Amino acid sequence: EDISIQDNAIRGTNEDAAMSKLSSVNTGYIQDEYIKYFLKRPTKRSPIINIGSYVRNKGLDTLIIKFLEIEDGKKQIVSLGAGSDTRYFNLKSSSRKFHKYFEIDFPENTAKKVAIIQTNKELSEIIGDDARIGSEIYASDYCLLSGDLREFIEDLVPRLESNGFDRSLSTLFLSECVMIYMDPMDSNKIVEWIGTNLNTTMFIVYEQILPNDAFGSIMLQNIKLRNIELRGIHAYPNLESQKDRYLSRGWIHAEAVDMNEVYDLYIDPKEHIRISKLEMLDELEEWHLLASHYCIAWAYKVTTESQKVLYDS
Ligand code: SAM
Repeated sequence: EDISIQDNAIRGTNEDAAMSKLSSVNTGYIQDEYIKYFLKRPTKRSPIINIGSYVRNKGLDTLIIKFLEIEDGKKQIVSLGAGSDTRYFNLKSSSRKFHKYFEIDFPENTAKKVAIIQTNKELSEIIGDDARIGSEIYASDYCLLSGDLREFIEDLVPRLESNGFDRSLSTLFLSECVMIYMDPMDSNKIVEWIGTNLNTTMFIVYEQILPNDAFGSIMLQNIKLRNIELRGIHAYPNLESQKDRYLSRGWIHAEAVDMNEVYDLYIDPKEHIRISKLEMLDELEEWHLLASHYCIAWAYKVTTESQKVLYDS
């Protein structure tokens, strides 16, 4: 009973993420033709939240596109706790090449996504008319599965594999604000399984860090207030421990940067100018503080030296 109330709150965090993304799209930061279909009505968010969604999206896209551009065979992507994420649709409409895109979320969230895709012509056309749609979706390059990530190895791996997931292909795993809601015992089992069972793989995470300083504890408290039954948020204390999560579980290389670094180092100065004109950002100090409490961490595992050079760059 207690667990199911908590799970409900965890599922609810998806609405928040989608709402912030749509607000950022509607204000001109991000381009995403599809996110609007996943919400009933748009809500305007503060400039700090909008710019935060922008930097998150831009940073993740940069890494994902890099992964797709490395020429080492067919590519798979597995999005853990995908919620209403629209990345599959955006990658396809920008003609990015990949072999298969898998998404996993709790049955309730998956059911909602299925219903939206099924009744939306634009979305279902992208998936293709050979797709089989039931309580999950099985299409030629897309597969939406329902399940509990706490049962990743026992339940989800076999179902991924029976739907075309191939351990020998180079595979990207994504976790965008997901593992933070899981007990580290459970999330680390996933990290370790991938680190020991795949040879060419990359893991990208976006989530909160620094839970213990004054700002961090208020920030996490606010997330709990918005999702009233949510108790467990398991933030790693810093960038070093984020990297360690992989390095101690079979991965050969890991990086972690906070969102201030992402903004400064990975976003084109032309973009800095463009977005500075979209809205007045008065609370610059608060933005920097917030950005220092979120990070993108990524890790990879490869077999050849030439691959290592590509993934390193
Ligand atoms: N990744 C999406 C994004 O960034 O837009 C959604 C993020 S939302 C904050 C977290 C998602 O993780 C929710 O959709 C939730 O249902 C999912 N999730 C959390 N724990 C999960 C679990 N144990 N099994 C399946 N899904 C889970």
